[in-house]
Amino acid sequence: MRFLAELFKIGYGVHIPGEKKHLYDQALTRYLEPTHVYIPLTNHVKHSLRSLVKVGDYVKMGQKIGERADNVYAALHASVSGNVVGIEKCLHRSGNYVDCIVIENDNKYIQTEELTKACCLEATLSSEEIVDKIREGGIVGLGGSGFSTYVKYVSPTDIDTIVLNGVECEPFIATDHNILLNRTELVFEGLKIMIHAAKAKRGVIAIKEHKEHLYDYLTEFAANYDNISVVQVPDAYPMGWEKVLIRQIFKKEYDRLPADVGIVVNNVATAVEVASAVRGDLPLIYRTVTVNGPAVNNPQIFRVRIGTKASELLAITGYKDNVDTVRLIAGGPMMGTVMESDDFIISKGVNAITCLIEETKKGEKPQEHLELPCVRCASCVDNCPAGLQPVNIMIAAKLGEKDTLEQLEARACIECGLCSYVCPSKIPVTQWMREGKKVMNGGK
Ligand code: SF4
Ligand code: SF4
Repeated sequence: MRFLAELFKIGYGVHIPGEKKHLYDQALTRYLEPTHVYIPLTNHVKHSLRSLVKVGDYVKMGQKIGERADNVYAALHASVSGNVVGIEKCLHRSGNYVDCIVIENDNKYIQTEELTKACCLEATLSSEEIVDKIREGGIVGLGGSGFSTYVKYVSPTDIDTIVLNGVECEPFIATDHNILLNRTELVFEGLKIMIHAAKAKRGVIAIKEHKEHLYDYLTEFAANYDNISVVQVPDAYPMGWEKVLIRQIFKKEYDRLPADVGIVVNNVATAVEVASAVRGDLPLIYRTVTVNGPAVNNPQIFRVRIGTKASELLAITGYKDNVDTVRLIAGGPMMGTVMESDDFIISKGVNAITCLIEETKKGEKPQEHLELPCVRCASCVDNCPAGLQPVNIMIAAKLGEKDTLEQLEARACIECGLCSYVCPSKIPVTQWMREGKKVMNGGK
C-alpha cells in the first residue's frame, strides 16, 4: 500500500493518512477462550527467558512460568489455567521462531492466590513497592517496544512529568484510541500510580490533534485529577517517537533518555496494565490488538489472552474475497515486522495485525520486482526524524563498510520506516538500516 500521492508535510514529520476511523467507535471484541496459548520464552526480540515449568505441569492463570533474572528482570505468566503440553518453536513477532510454553486451556481459569486477593490501595504503597509490583507483573511497554516498564521507575530522580503516549501514529492501528475511550478510568489511575512511583509533579496524556471528541472526553475526565492534563499534538509521523513527542510538547532535547530532561514516557495501554498489576496483582496476561488493513474483511479490535495465535483472530475478521496476496504484518506498516504466515503468536509487544494487499503484477512475485534504482532524490534524508542519511547508510551496509556506518551513526536509527515510505523508488531503505546495524555488530 502506498500513500505517496497523499503525502504532505506538517511541521516536523510526515502526515500519513490513517485508515482506522471506522474502528474508533467500535466495541471491543473479547476473544478470551482459546483452546491453547503459546507463551513465548522471550521478553523483547533478543532476550531468552528461562522456563519455570515443564511438560505435564498444571498451571494456574496468573502463575509465573518464565523469567529472565539477569540485568533486566522479566517475568512471564500463564494467561489461562491448564496443563503444559509442550515447549515448541512458534513464529514470534520478531520474525524468528522462538520456544513457547504451550498450555492447554482447561476453561476453568483457576487463579493464583494473589489474583483472588482483594485489591490494594496504591496510596499506601511506597515507590519501591509499586516498582516491585510492576516488575513482578511482567509489565512491558505495550506500544510495541516490549521493554520492561519497571526500569523507568527504579530510583527516579528529578522527574517532573509522566507522559502517556496515546498518539498512535501508525496508519491502521486504533488500539490506544479504543483503550482511552473504553478503559479511561484505568488509564488515569495507571498514570496516577506512575506519577506516585516516579515522585513526579504531573501527568500529561498526549493524543493527536484531529480527535476533538476524544480530547473533550479526556479533558472532562482529567478534571477529576488536579495534576493530569491532556494535550494535542500534530498528526505527523513519527510524532509517537518519544524524542519527537518531547520536543513537540516541552521544546526539550535529550541525548540518552527522556529522564535526562525530567520526563518519563509510557504508552496508554501500559498505564492500564500498571493499574491492574498494582491494584489487583494482575500480571500482564491480556492485551488489546487491532486487526485492520485493506485486506481485512471485518476489521476489529480484540481483547485477547497473551499467547493466542493471530490466525484465530484472522479467522474471525476474514480476508476480503478479491484479494490474491496479503502482506501480513505484526504491528503497523511503518514499524511492524512482515510475517511469513498468520500462525504467529500475540506476544506482549503485538499491538496490531495489519493486512495489506500486496502490489503484484500477474504472474510476478510481489514487492522485489517493483523496486527501482535509487535516484538520489534525498527524500529519505530530508524526512529522517533522527537526522540521519539513510541513502548513504544503505550504500555502506551493502558494501559492508563498518567504519562508514559508525561515522554515519547508523545505530541511531529508530527503524520508524519513514525512509522506505517516502522513497519514490520503493526501496526498502529501513531494511537496509537493519542490515547496517547487523554489519556494525559484526554480522557481515
Ligand atoms: S533511517 Fe531510521 S530513523 Fe531515519 S527515517 Fe529511516 S527508519 Fe526512520
Ligand atoms: S529516497 Fe529512495 S531514491 Fe531517494 S535518495 Fe533515498 S533511497 Fe534514493
